[in-house]
Amino acid sequence: MEINETENGEKRSLNFIEQIVENDLKEGITGGRIQTRFPPEPNGYLHIGHAKAICMDFGIAERYNGICNLRFDDTNPAKEDVEYVDSIKEDIQWLGFKWANIYYASDYFQQLYDLAIQFIKEGKAYVDEQSSEEIAKQKGTPTTPGVESPYRNRPIEENLDLFIRMNKGEFPDGSMVLRAKIDMANSNMHFRDPIMYRIITSHPHHKTGTTWKVYPMYDFAHGQSDYFEGVTHSLCTLEFVVHRPLYDYYLDQFAGADYRPKQREFNRLNLTYTVMSKRKLLQLVKEGLVSGWDDPRMPTICGLRRRGYTPESIKAFIDKIGYTKYEALNDISLLESAAREDLKPRATRVCTILDPIKLIIDNYPEGKKEILTTDNNPDNPEAGVREIPFGREIYIERGDFREEADKNFYRLSPGGREVRLKSAYIIQATGCEKDANGNITTVHATYDPNTKSGTEGGNKKVKSTINWIDVDNSKEAELRLYDRLFVCENPSAEEGDFRDLLNPNSLTVVPQARVETFVANAKPGDKFQFLKTGYFNTDKDSTPEHPIFNLTVSLKESKK
Ligand code: ATP
Ligand code: MG
Repeated sequence: MEINETENGEKRSLNFIEQIVENDLKEGITGGRIQTRFPPEPNGYLHIGHAKAICMDFGIAERYNGICNLRFDDTNPAKEDVEYVDSIKEDIQWLGFKWANIYYASDYFQQLYDLAIQFIKEGKAYVDEQSSEEIAKQKGTPTTPGVESPYRNRPIEENLDLFIRMNKGEFPDGSMVLRAKIDMANSNMHFRDPIMYRIITSHPHHKTGTTWKVYPMYDFAHGQSDYFEGVTHSLCTLEFVVHRPLYDYYLDQFAGADYRPKQREFNRLNLTYTVMSKRKLLQLVKEGLVSGWDDPRMPTICGLRRRGYTPESIKAFIDKIGYTKYEALNDISLLESAAREDLKPRATRVCTILDPIKLIIDNYPEGKKEILTTDNNPDNPEAGVREIPFGREIYIERGDFREEADKNFYRLSPGGREVRLKSAYIIQATGCEKDANGNITTVHATYDPNTKSGTEGGNKKVKSTINWIDVDNSKEAELRLYDRLFVCENPSAEEGDFRDLLNPNSLTVVPQARVETFVANAKPGDKFQFLKTGYFNTDKDSTPEHPIFNLTVSLKESKK
């Protein structure tokens, strides 16, 4: 078995596409040349499924000294937009890949149109005036042949005249199509006179404006575009297996004998507790069910970025799940654990207080401040240490104090146990103050000056260590805690409306947490581990006046 190196230098065996490519190189089929493309339709933002295809397309080119081009499959102006073109470029670059060239399927509209004319002249295509419903009805089933269109045997001149006039805008959208004349009884449904061209006049094209009134279908554009560009390996997902014979058929009608692009298919990425169809993701955005394409709950690349995922964690996850010839549903917890592994050595450890309550250390001198030190990241010695001020007034978690506590409560309680303040001293609670409603407003405690961490007395063992922040070193912050977007594992497989399966608790806002001042001043994208809570990413809208942090992933996998 041949061996390959992954991102992080681990050895792994070749995937089956790599084996095909190595074999083709060995047999000299491509003249030693490797060229791939990533062909998104600019009708939405990229999601993590696309990242899997990107890693394959760009990865193969990198590994075998080839090139990978970015080609926008922009053949349906009704759904496409430059906003999507721009976001797709940004996301690919962020993932760390470089295309050799940018192409658009629309670059080939003239060549494809000329080819369609050639098909008509050779008697291989005809204009059908039936409605799409009619055409669909005549398709037959895999076991019963389809019905031939009454327009199938139109004279060539008539087809030519009609097609040219279709493109002049003489006929309304949907009134006629150009179909390939192949075989209405073929066991492959895609051979039953597939549609080559349809009329779209209702929307101008984002690049070609109103020049064209007819637009090629995917099958008539994709293989040809691959051929025009010199693609050697046209890699796509398994649903295109059934299209492959048609891909080859169209090429055989016009391509020279010198070379053929090869279509090869691998399994899609499907993830639990989310949806991956662009149509559904667009619906969530349009209906305001999420805050936008980059809502941190979305499986989009920009959503994952805002959530706190790094390109490395996404690539490590894709490496782990691998490429096969069988459809599967991958567990989202694999993606989450890739985030944990990646963030562990990167993310600065900080104390944050989600539900703050003030604690006063009555025997600590008023006005005094000490500078203590703490490790920035015990999992990464290079991260060094930082200084944290400590004084008489601090914030702790409300839940770390109980006025009445039994012996199983190891944290603060008047007259109760000794508790260590992380990286600081051991304290003991003495009492608390309450407001008129009986809510605790302030906790009182005393500290033992001989128990400072890092000194001999710091070795004294107590049952629990709690988080704290000096009042003067703290700022208010908004935390956004995310849970899964859907309540069921595979929302796409359920009957009924997928929107009814949205998790109503997928976002919990903690409006008044307390963070250290330097954390409040973090730049968007800065990553932290909030001790005892999880990994957090500084949101793109975060400012020192209103800091916002997104929960990337909890510290441990939840058991639910
Ligand atoms: P949708 O059907 O949701 O619109 P799509 O497959 O049509 O998605 P494209 O923009 O056409 O999206 O996809 C570009 C490339 O990304 C194609 O090669 C496609 O096979 C691949 N791709 C799309 N979704 C996935 C996925 N979930 N896993 C792996 N590859 C994918
Ligand atoms: Mg598509």
